[in-house]
Amino acid sequence: MSDEPHPPAPGRPGGPAELGLTPAHPRLAADCGSCFALCCVAPGFATSADFPISKPPGTPCRHLSARLDCSVHDELRPRGFRGCAVFDCFGAGQQVSQVTFAGRDWRTHPADAARMFDTFTVMRTLHESLHHLGEARARLGEAHARLADADRAGLLAELDATTAVTVTLTGADADTLLAADLPAHRRAVHGLLTRASALLRAGLIGAPRSRTLGVDLVGARLAGADLRGAELAGRLLIEADLRGAELRGADLRGADLRGADLRGADLRGALFVVQAQLDAARGDATTTAPAPLTRPVHWAAPPTPAPPAPAPPIPATPTSATPAATPAATGKPAMRAGRRRGRAGRSGSGSGSSSSLS
Ligand code: SF4
Repeated sequence: MSDEPHPPAPGRPGGPAELGLTPAHPRLAADCGSCFALCCVAPGFATSADFPISKPPGTPCRHLSARLDCSVHDELRPRGFRGCAVFDCFGAGQQVSQVTFAGRDWRTHPADAARMFDTFTVMRTLHESLHHLGEARARLGEAHARLADADRAGLLAELDATTAVTVTLTGADADTLLAADLPAHRRAVHGLLTRASALLRAGLIGAPRSRTLGVDLVGARLAGADLRGAELAGRLLIEADLRGAELRGADLRGADLRGADLRGADLRGALFVVQAQLDAARGDATTTAPAPLTRPVHWAAPPTPAPPAPAPPIPATPTSATPAATPAATGKPAMRAGRRRGRAGRSGSGSGSSSSLS
């Protein structure tokens, strides 16, 4: 165990200079080398399809080495740690380690440990909010020619204001972060993203009338379905058959895509998709990922032709599903994509999470 401090903490963020954060901003990408393995210690997890073992919150995983590396990093999926393989902290780990706690390691400063772990959970929510707020802003900017100026301008101003508040909060001290009204913040962000989604999907040229689908789409047979511009935020699409589905411009914020079959699906322009959602799903070379996300490494198997199945009836239960900030919103954040001083387990950058922790 090293007592050496990590690299100097970056300056505390906040204010207009940080506005314009996009999902690709380095602040919102995990930097494991600047983090004290918080995702392998802070959350707990239970034996399930996503984890082969259980671990209480606030305790190091048995596979975490003294160097804060994952000793089974290269075997996460074969060993059943799917929850670890798809997790991303959105950069919350290094923010808490290097900014909030100024490089103090929980191992050498055990009095800080509990607060540090709690702060990690708060920070991750805030960083994920920044990720989605940044996407909403960028998308509204790109779509300006198709949207009503008044609606768009007002929403952009609100997005900027909420982004500024959120950025400032991420630079606050631990006491402030832990006292923050996170549910209220989530509601505010959710409201803005819902409005942005509606505006963007309404401007989607050629899309069918958006359908309102039920929340529970577990195992749904949606192969070949035309879901362009569909509102799928927060939907449970676990193991759903989405082979060859048209998902262009669909809102998939917080949708649980664990085990969903996306072979041949077209997700171009899909809204609020994070890398972890793709990582948790199945796909192949014929799946079109929404830019700038990439096909996960485990999709690299030889492409399997998507069957030209006719679209079956779609469950159409009206719903007011409210996605949590993360996909697979069944609990606390899942584990990250395997610690090894950097990202791994996928072919490109991205973010997101899935799988439940306790
Ligand atoms: S990535 Fe998962 S298996 Fe590896 S040390 Fe962290 S919690 Fe444990």
